Amino acid sequence: MSAPLDRPQPPRVAPPDGTIWAARPDPTWSLTTQPRDCRHATSDGHSRRVNRCGQPATAEYEAGVQTYGYCGEHLRGRYGRWVENAQVMRWLPVPTTKDTP
Ligand SMILES: [Zn+2]
Repeated sequence: MSAPLDRPQPPRVAPPDGTIWAARPDPTWSLTTQPRDCRHATSDGHSRRVNRCGQPATAEYEAGVQTYGYCGEHLRGRYGRWVENAQVMRWLPVPTTKDTP
């Protein structure tokens, strides 16, 4: 099985005994349903200026009444998630005895 190039590396920490890291869909995220900007923002620590990413979001999740969107770069960099086959994916520990890719 060849992994797509945009897959991030699995977590560096070892998964629990008897499991391996496997790419699995994350049901708490979905692809954006309407155009929105990436919510990621950074502050330089000196001024109060906030630099917003502002790229078009590719994925989003609901937090209460809010929906937060992130671009592909920050979906990976901040949440370790990525889009594959129109699903938002994450690394999950799965038992090696079954359901192993
Ligand atoms: Zn972004």
